[in-house]
Amino acid sequence: MWFNKGEYDKRGNRVVAEDMLTQALQQLKDHKIRVTPQRQIILNYLITHHNHPSVETIYQELATQLPNLSLATVYNTLKLFVDLGIVIELQNGDAGTHYDFFGRPHYHVVCENCGKITDVFEPDLRSVEAKAAELSGYLVTGHNMEVYGLCPDCQKLLNVTKTADLKRLKLTHSE
Ligand code: ZN
Ligand code: MN
Repeated sequence: MWFNKGEYDKRGNRVVAEDMLTQALQQLKDHKIRVTPQRQIILNYLITHHNHPSVETIYQELATQLPNLSLATVYNTLKLFVDLGIVIELQNGDAGTHYDFFGRPHYHVVCENCGKITDVFEPDLRSVEAKAAELSGYLVTGHNMEVYGLCPDCQKLLNVTKTADLKRLKLTHSE
């Protein structure tokens, strides 16, 4: 089964992966872009996985389902989705690019030790856009925020329990 993951919107209503896929496919149709099996399966993979995969990961995971799939097709499909604003690109310091379905806006916390990228849905930073517009005179179209730190697994691994301990790992960004 593809559609088994449910998420919740701000009002607590269940947002089903199937609905997100339908909406995203409609966006393709609105732009007169053909819905090929490859495009549909790659999009579905991104909607149902929150692992912020690289091109290679997506290719490896889907190659068994789509024997004719090539790395170039995955790459070009992702580029198309990024251009449409359906998918975003992320960096985590490992020199690769990671991809994320962005049907529901959220923020990312990136582990500076292992590169893990975790979703954060809570903080509402739309006021940042209003403030930036006010201070710069720009017509603001959007924003992106990344928070850096040490994930719970790496905290255990490196025996770090408080922010002050980060100094010895030279992971703090303050002067
Ligand atoms: Zn980590
Ligand atoms: Mn994400």
